[in-house]
Amino acid sequence: MTDQTVDLLVIGCGASGASVAYEAVRRGLRVAILEAGDIGGGTSCRSTKLLHGGVRYLELAFKTLDVAQLKLVREALLERGHWLKEAPFLARRLELALPTPALWNQAYYRVGLGLYDALAGSEGIGSSRLLSREAMAMALPELKAGLSGVAYSDGQFDDARLNLLLALSAEQGGAQLQTRCRVVGFERDQAGRLSGAVSEDREGRQQRWTAAVIVNATGIQSDAIRQLADPTASPRMLTSRGSHLVIAEDLCPEGVGLLVPSTADGRVLFMLPFFGRTLVGTTDEACSLDEATAPSEAEEQYLLRYIRDWFPAVQNPTVTSRWAGGRPLLKPADTDRDSSRVVREHDVETLPCGLVSVMGGKWTTCRPMAIDTLRAVEQQLNRPLAEPSAMPLLGSASTPEQTRAGLLEQQVKLQDVLPDTPLRDAQVMHLQSSFGLRALSVIADQSNAELEPLSGVIPLCRAEIRHVIDKEHVFSTTDVLARRCRLAMVDQNDAETLRPTVESLLIEAGISRATASRDLNLSMND
Ligand SMILES: Cc1cc2nc3c(=O)[nH]c(=O)nc-3n(C[C@H](O)[C@H](O)[C@H](O)COP(=O)(O)OP(=O)(O)OC[C@H]3O[C@@H](n4cnc5c(N)ncnc54)[C@H](O)[C@@H]3O)c2cc1C
Repeated sequence: MTDQTVDLLVIGCGASGASVAYEAVRRGLRVAILEAGDIGGGTSCRSTKLLHGGVRYLELAFKTLDVAQLKLVREALLERGHWLKEAPFLARRLELALPTPALWNQAYYRVGLGLYDALAGSEGIGSSRLLSREAMAMALPELKAGLSGVAYSDGQFDDARLNLLLALSAEQGGAQLQTRCRVVGFERDQAGRLSGAVSEDREGRQQRWTAAVIVNATGIQSDAIRQLADPTASPRMLTSRGSHLVIAEDLCPEGVGLLVPSTADGRVLFMLPFFGRTLVGTTDEACSLDEATAPSEAEEQYLLRYIRDWFPAVQNPTVTSRWAGGRPLLKPADTDRDSSRVVREHDVETLPCGLVSVMGGKWTTCRPMAIDTLRAVEQQLNRPLAEPSAMPLLGSASTPEQTRAGLLEQQVKLQDVLPDTPLRDAQVMHLQSSFGLRALSVIADQSNAELEPLSGVIPLCRAEIRHVIDKEHVFSTTDVLARRCRLAMVDQNDAETLRPTVESLLIEAGISRATASRDLNLSMND
């Protein structure tokens, strides 16, 4: 068993853990991140991929006259603006059309969405507007006829790539990052406070980590880690499964989505443009931890029913991918009736043994969650943290203006380097939206055979696969095809066709045949 010593040990490398590590490195801490599966392989690669304040939460704030709730919506709207500026290659503006059956409904949503715009203040990304029947038909030509409504803007982003780039940026800033490395125990000092952890890799090799502070960022598994640290800790988390389908039919033009305002079970559903196809989700089913990552047949039928209802010309949609994720929900407080009505986004808890857990929240607010977590870390360290240093996300430049200008400049160079195929424009877009300003370095000095697009769905090429194997902590075909290149999340059959190519490149790079040869599996983060 080897020993490592750090200031901060982060358990879990989803959105929460990667953000904590990134922000901690910026503040000069020596950090290690241990992830049991793949980076973002838990809930964080299975979201609806919206950067949003949450129209639903805004409605709740009004219904309950809750100012704190309103502040949370505002915070999320500011974060939406942050990511759209900071990583424009990963995130873009999306206009969501919301059909309203009656005039009073339209007025209600128009007022509410006007406030949603106002709350964003200077981080606003476009004004909401009324949609006449004609405007609705223009925005979503395939939608059932005769509907008017309202439209508002939010952000759409690539969750798995943002997660990865946060983790890799932290690593580049000095953090140690180990995947397929599960925390299986804790060590304590004489007073019973945590002084370190023990991790185990897939071959059963153990490693000891001495850490001044340990952060638990394990999403739906938070209670297991809390109880490993303190068996008397009462559970704080609930899990609810949200399932998505991807269908081959392209129902939403680029940049426009549909928000189905009220389902039979009183929820909202999204139908969004997704790599030239349509992403439909999500359901909300209380479930056990083991059931969180695979959609049930009933959920699939439920989602298909809404597609047929809203897009009557599509009675037999072709499902090309399906996935589910577990929402890490905080249990409502059981002692305080008022606060139980509040949807608290996240909580940071410090157990008497010193374990800091960051729980709940959403992707959009991963940065304020990380900053709150570091306040608790600061208390445990008993010293103030340094001011954050400037550390742009990998793929971005120092300022949003420089990033945008750099992307434009790089676009021309990519056109020159890539082979002249009908997919060249799509390939330029794909490379930029995966690697930002680093796209050119991924394909530099490669032969045409290495650069030929391998799929018409997502035009990845062998040079890109080699790059992600070499630089992005990849172990399996699922890591490459689902989380690094997204193909399996869009079209599982197409990904299956490419599996042997990826497998042989993994083996060529020294990954064991047993690991590389695993079947594609979107239901596991192993
Ligand atoms: C269906 C769905 C749709 C959503 N859509 C949106 C959206 O559109 N916008 C938005 O803002 N939010 C959305 N969310 C919320 C958002 O996705 C989650 O809040 C966020 O991804 C949770 O990140 P996390 O890091 O806390 O958890 P996770 O991503 O699950 O990461 C936890 C990690 O901890 C690791 N781990 C567990 N145990 C151990 C251990 N013992 N040792 C080491 N590692 C361990 C796991 O392997 C996992 O990778 C959605 C959630 C769901 C479920």
